[in-house]
Amino acid sequence: MALIACRECSKQYSDSASACPQCGARVKKRRLWIWIPLSIPIAFILFAVLRTRAPDEDEKIRARDAIDLCWSKQKTKSFDPSTAQFVARACETMEEDFKTKYHVAP
Ligand SMILES: [Zn+2]
Repeated sequence: MALIACRECSKQYSDSASACPQCGARVKKRRLWIWIPLSIPIAFILFAVLRTRAPDEDEKIRARDAIDLCWSKQKTKSFDPSTAQFVARACETMEEDFKTKYHVAP
């Protein structure tokens, strides 16, 4: 038990009292319990935010699409042999990057 000073009349009294015995001012209780029900939606929001951002699924899909696009362009466009080879090498580089990043074949 400790003594606290009243914020109204500054008289000291026990912190176990719910109001000042002198002037009747209510003790401002630190309402920690309010964070218990609040923490659940907060946790959900955080989880949702992290889920939409963190998992590199989106990035992975985009990278895979880019590789697909690269190869389809390389095959369909009528490049001259050296350009075709250059594009193919670019596609292969993208595949290599994908493999080093995700440890799976695209
Ligand atoms: Zn008081």
